[in-house]
Amino acid sequence: MSAQPTQSPISQPGNTTHRMTSRLWMPRQVLFTPDALEEPFGQQIYTRVTNLNLPVTILKTNRLTGLRGEDDRQTYRNAKQTLAVVKAPPGTFRLQPIPPSADWQMNLAEGCPAHCQYCYLAGSLQGPPVTRVFANLPQMLSNTVAYEQTGKMTTFEVSCYTDVIGIEHLTGGLAECIRHFGNRPDTQLRFVTKYDQVDSLLGLPHNGRTRARVSLNADSVARRLEGGTASIEARLMALRKLAMPPEQGGGGYPVGVVLAPIMPVDNWREQ
Ligand code: SF4
Repeated sequence: MSAQPTQSPISQPGNTTHRMTSRLWMPRQVLFTPDALEEPFGQQIYTRVTNLNLPVTILKTNRLTGLRGEDDRQTYRNAKQTLAVVKAPPGTFRLQPIPPSADWQMNLAEGCPAHCQYCYLAGSLQGPPVTRVFANLPQMLSNTVAYEQTGKMTTFEVSCYTDVIGIEHLTGGLAECIRHFGNRPDTQLRFVTKYDQVDSLLGLPHNGRTRARVSLNADSVARRLEGGTASIEARLMALRKLAMPPEQGGGGYPVGVVLAPIMPVDNWREQ
């Protein structure tokens, strides 16, 4: 399991103090392609990961190599412990529609550090499941302007191929998106997460244009099938922080909950 659990006491309403598990992913290796390192945003990521003392390798070419292990299991393990910072290829600038969740999907990364057993990423991304982060994110954000419709709300979803909070401490990419859409009238950014480290988002100028959603499920499902993610209790606390008004220390975001996948569990009402 690549995620490293840390324990932190968080005070809850009703003055009760609980211990809850929150998980911060620290990859075993961070790879940069030469192209990615030429990007100012790629350099920001470089500074973040070196400040965290993560082992960084600058590749000789723009191809990701050296990820294969002795067998598929080892290859999977290597990939899941790897963050690769690359430049998004030209094809990613042609946005795909994604109704009904949003008008367009915009991927600031592909791959996820978590291990949800039902996740469609394993079958939809090619090659070993490395988490690839795009160093040319600012250009990708500028590109979304061409997809806005005058006088009509245009929505952009950034969570189709990664968990944006799960990697935010390493990249700052979601904050970049929130600031961008905060300045774009008639737009809405949407994300969904199974992680809980939302503190870095609380003071951002989102102007109500980012809808933050938290993915929930029965506790037993989360424990058994959603390896590497935050506990349900921690996710609920994150949801609360995101929703609370700024005067009360929260982010003041419009929030939502995603209940998926629907699983047949005993005592489902109670759970
Ligand atoms: S957190 Fe989301 S993207 Fe990541 S493995 Fe789980 S279902 Fe997939």
